[in-house]
Amino acid sequence: MTVTRFAPSPTGHLHLGHAFAALTAWRRARDAGGRFLLRIEDIDRARCRPEYTADLLDDLAWLGLDWDGGTRLQSEHMGDYSAVLADLQSRALVYPCFCTRADIAAAGSAPQGPDGASVYPGICRALPPYVRTARIARGAPHAWRLDMAAATARAGALSFVEEGQGRLACAPERFGDVVLARKDAPASYHLCVTHDDAMQGITLVTRGNDLLPATGIHRLLQALMGWPAPIYAHHRLLTDASGRRLAKRDFAQTLRAMRATGMAPVQVRAAAMALSPAEMGSSG
Ligand code: GLU
Repeated sequence: MTVTRFAPSPTGHLHLGHAFAALTAWRRARDAGGRFLLRIEDIDRARCRPEYTADLLDDLAWLGLDWDGGTRLQSEHMGDYSAVLADLQSRALVYPCFCTRADIAAAGSAPQGPDGASVYPGICRALPPYVRTARIARGAPHAWRLDMAAATARAGALSFVEEGQGRLACAPERFGDVVLARKDAPASYHLCVTHDDAMQGITLVTRGNDLLPATGIHRLLQALMGWPAPIYAHHRLLTDASGRRLAKRDFAQTLRAMRATGMAPVQVRAAAMALSPAEMGSSG
């Protein structure tokens, strides 16, 4: 059975790009007689707001989307993510990182990862175990990073199926030692999204193609944790008439603003789908 999901982060109001993403995942599930799930990715306490969650549920319902089962809020499952982290810790696949941004900047120029962020230079990877233990014992703030070399050695060569393109090889090592648990939260996007896609039985992930390279990290975590790999269908990101990526800060593009002008749901749905060439599929 096809199981898809829409997984917005409640950091602002939904815009047409989100409507396109949600409609795509919803249509794929409904056309296949499958299930469409809704997941709120709200682990970032500083940026996510409950009122945005409430508003997005309202916007989706107004658009005419229905989802199966309840709404999963990641913030209610922190214990699950901690358990995954503990498992990786027990296998020495992650290490604590005490670095501040300034420490990392002082380490000199680092290569850029596929997401544009600089690759972590590995300062804390080499810390002896007694130093790690002592720093943690005295309460030093720390994140947990994946030991990418150890993880890829354990998992071997990996690939995933991208709809329309066939099997693509993964290259997670280009990201370096990614953060799996942040200083301020026992989880990170990569850990939560991979865990939840597995726990929710997602078989088809539709999302924006900005996340295509990161899929290698997700595939690696799936392999390390013994989770199944869904099929992926990345689509281009929606842009406005000037070619700029739609952003939550552009209020005029929000579904709220369109509703306020008296547009009907059917018109907004048509506007969202018209933003993308049909052959491109959906947006995440
Ligand atoms: N919460 C992510 C976002 O809003 C979705 C990531 C995904 O679909 O995997 O960009």
